[in-house]
Parts: sequence; structure tokens; C-alpha cells
Amino acid sequence: LSRFGGGYGVGIVSLTAGFDLGGTKLLGVVADGAGTVVASARTPTGRTPDSVFSDLAGLLDTLTGTAGPVDAVGFGVAGLVDRDGVVRRAPNLVGWDGLPARSRLEDLVGLPVVVDNDANVAAHAELRFGAARGCSDVVMVTLGTGIGGAVIAGGAVYRGAQGLAAEFGHITVDVEGAQCACGAFGHWEAIASGSALGRLGRQWAARGEAPAVVARAGGDPEAVTGVHVGDAAQAGEPDAVAILDVFAGAVAVGLGGLVDALDPEVIVIGGGLAELGDVLVGPVTQALDTYVVGAQSRPLPPVVVAVLGERAGAIGAASVAAEMPALRGPAPSGRA
Ligand SMILES: [Zn+2]
Repeated sequence: LSRFGGGYGVGIVSLTAGFDLGGTKLLGVVADGAGTVVASARTPTGRTPDSVFSDLAGLLDTLTGTAGPVDAVGFGVAGLVDRDGVVRRAPNLVGWDGLPARSRLEDLVGLPVVVDNDANVAAHAELRFGAARGCSDVVMVTLGTGIGGAVIAGGAVYRGAQGLAAEFGHITVDVEGAQCACGAFGHWEAIASGSALGRLGRQWAARGEAPAVVARAGGDPEAVTGVHVGDAAQAGEPDAVAILDVFAGAVAVGLGGLVDALDPEVIVIGGGLAELGDVLVGPVTQALDTYVVGAQSRPLPPVVVAVLGERAGAIGAASVAAEMPALRGPAPSGRA
């Protein structure tokens, strides 16, 4: 049989693997065509692309050892990924700019590989199996180390001319604002990502305004992270709830613009901050009114959290791989 396994050219894909590379971790799953996870594994994000590729190959061995062989691999990367699977720019990862990730991975694992933006694959998973199932027009925003974005238009992921669409995190919201991971100033990601929540928490802590949050950081105001703020807010601690109210306003600034531009039927929040649930979604929903044109004269789209959790990206990568044209049907005439 070919190196692509039994699925190639047959039109039946039983299992595929999906990986999601973020700023802090590489998460992998093996899933079936219904999005059911058969096996999953993770490791911290390697410091170089070479170490990530080697980690990914190791995880793939572990996963297929548990779940059995897969027909294809999907890989979601937190960065600009073009239609050829080249990572053009990845501000939150070191050494990935210009990397031909798809061809490197295909050589490494000997399987067909599809590489896409991490938010695109997460949105694909939520569309197929999660919070956006049955929807036609959706905005998805992933709030993590940075901000990822995806647009579903007419029931499919909208990728733009080169595959680089929906980089919402790098929309300028304040030309005199804080510096973004990409180097520019005033981008939405610089005020509304998980990293930005941590920075906001440290600012409050430095002013002595967040004692309960500082306590969670071992008493060191400079050690406060977004996780400390989020945990404290979920516990109902007033200083953390107040920080999250301010942060929710920053999230709503960007979402309001996206509603103005795209008129989605639902906004799905994914990424690490989605785990905050109502503690985040409540104040974001309240603040959204302020930033959408004609908000008093139209229904606003509900803001909901992704239901597939932190594995959405990996599940979506597996699903995108399963829908890869080469795996979907017989080879075009003339290829054999
Ligand atoms: Zn930026």
C-alpha cells in the first residue's frame, strides 16, 4: 500500500491526527470523523522549530501507539499561515517566520499534512462539532498568549486571498497604545490577550489595588499573571472582578468592530481565557453595546465560549486533515 495508508484515494478516512501549536504548549489528538477524540497528548512548546517538529513526531508515535494508524496530519500554528502551509509570520513563536512547515512535516512523518492558522482550525472544530454547529456566519476569537481570529462566512472558514485573513489581534485600536508581540503599537492583542490580562493585573498590583490577586501570586506583585487574575475573579474576589471588568471593555472594543464589519450570528470565544466562562463573557456582553453601531436598534450576536475547550485547535486540525481534498475521493483521472 502507499505511504498514505488505506485512506488515500479510497474516500474513507477513519482516523486523523491534529496538533495545535500555541505559545506555551503543543497539543495533539487522534480523532475520528465525528470529532471524537480517541487519544490525546501534550508537551510544552519547544524553543526552536526543530524541537517542535521532533516533539510532534514523538507525540504522533505515542498517539498512534494508543489509537492505531492515522491517514493524515493537521497542524494548527499560532501565526500567519499561507495556503501552501508556509508560516509567514508568528509573533509569539521564535524562529518560525518563513518556515515551510507543511513540506517539513510531510518529510518527517511520511503522511499528507495540512497546516493552517490555529484559530482557523479551532473555528472549524467549533463549526463542525461545537458552539457554532449549524451556524452560517460566525466570528471566532481565541484569547490566549496572543489573540487569534477566524471568520466563518456562508458555513465555511473564510481564508482571504492568500490564506492570511482574520488576524484580528493585530488590528490597531489605539495608535498610542501598548506594544504588541509583533513589534507594532496599539494592536488589540496588546490590550485584550491573556498576556495583556496579566499585564493589567501587574499594573493594579503595583498600585496596591489587587491584594487578593497578589496573594495568589505568592505576594509578589510582579509575579501576577492572567491566570491569577482569572482564578481570583472566578472565586468572586472583588479586586479581580474589577480588573476583569476593565479587561472585558478592552475585549469588547475589538469585538464591536468585528460585529460592525461582519455582522455575525454568534461570537465564539476560545483560547485559554474561555475557561473563565461567564466571569468573562458577562462583562464582555455588557460592554459590547458601547462599541457596535446602532446597538440600540438591532439585536447583538450572543457571545459564547467555545465548547471544545483547549483541544478545539487540535480537534479542528484533525478535522481539516480529514477533509483534505486528496483524502476525500478518488484520484483525479490521469494521476495514476
Ligand atoms: Zn500586533
